[in-house]
This record gives sequence, C-alpha cells and structure tokens, in this order.
Amino acid sequence: MDELEWFRQAIVRAYPNPERLGCPPPDALEGMARRTVPMVAAEQDHIFHCSPCFSRYLGIRNEIRRRHLVRVAGIWAAAPVLIVALSYSGYRVLFRSPTPQEFTTAMNMQDHPVFRGIHQAATHASPFVFPRGIVHFALTLPLASEPGVYEVVICRDGQTEPLVATSGQAALLPDHSTLLKVDLDTHRLRPGRYALGFRKDEAEWSYSPLVLP
Ligand SMILES: [Zn+2]
Repeated sequence: MDELEWFRQAIVRAYPNPERLGCPPPDALEGMARRTVPMVAAEQDHIFHCSPCFSRYLGIRNEIRRRHLVRVAGIWAAAPVLIVALSYSGYRVLFRSPTPQEFTTAMNMQDHPVFRGIHQAATHASPFVFPRGIVHFALTLPLASEPGVYEVVICRDGQTEPLVATSGQAALLPDHSTLLKVDLDTHRLRPGRYALGFRKDEAEWSYSPLVLP
C-alpha cells in the first residue's frame, strides 16, 4: 500500500461523516485547496476531521503538485541555456518555498489514545491528523494532568529522536482539564506517520499517534 492510500484509509476510518455534516460547498473546498479562497481555522479543522472533505482536498493538492513538477521538468528540458544563465538569485526565485501556512488546531488527549512507548503509538490505527505549517496547537492533556511546564515533540514513526521540539506552560481550567498551548513548525516535515510526545519535567514521555497529510 503506498503512503497516500494509507492516509486515505486511516482517515476514512477515523472520520467517515456519511451525512456530510458541516461540510463546506464543493467550490469553496476546491478554492481552499487551490489557495484562491482563504481557509479560516474552523474550516481547516473541519477538513482535517472529515474523511470526504479531506479526500477531495488531498486529491486537488496532489494534482497541483503533479502539474507543478511537470512544468518544472518542462522548463529544464526546453531551455538548457537557461540552466547556465541562471544566477543563484534566479534559482532562489524559481524554487523558493512558499511561506508556510498558519493553522490553529486542538487535540484532546482525553479522547485520544496515549502510549508510554513510541512503538505502540506509531502502529495505532486511528492517528490524529495534524496540519503541516505553523501550527498554533491547543493540547488538552489527559485527565488529572498537573499544570506546569511541558515539553512537546514530534517524532518520526517509531523513532524517539525529535524532529520538532518545543515547550509551554500548561494551565488548569475551571472544568478541571489541563490545557497546554504551544506553536509547532511542521512545514518542513514530509507527509507520513509520526508520534506526538509530551512530558512534564523529567517524567516518562507519553506518545499519541499523528499523521501529517
Ligand atoms: Zn466535510
């Protein structure tokens, strides 16, 4: 099974939404995928938690990526002289990576499985879908978690070496939940399976499975 198929299946299991509750109209979804229509936090949250919308979104994004690759290949094939003439700045203009998108997302560890070992987290069947970009992340910690400073990391599938790491102050809310807000920069991570790790002080790490589309 290729990676893309794996994502589709993982997300179809996680958020089937057969009645299409809360779905944006098809042309709005297409506009957001093509980045011609701005995506507000609520819509982004919906798309990443609705299997039909997510499939469509991913399909359009992949089509754009394919077309871009064909176009770049065409430029190189058609104008070999251009290769010689390109200065470093020209190269930068052509291949400059776009400004990372910003996202706001929330994950509630009271509803998601949390594992002590990274291997269990990596193989779990229903991962949380985490956006790629600058992510303003609100994490509700498992019940009875103490407030204080927590470290947060994202690790690749089954590996404990963090690819992204940050820390933040968790606060106790009036409803007795513990909320940790951090910013994570995931725009350089490749699509795939990851684990979100968190711990307070020098305690053992807890992990929960993630998938980055
Ligand atoms: Zn939807």
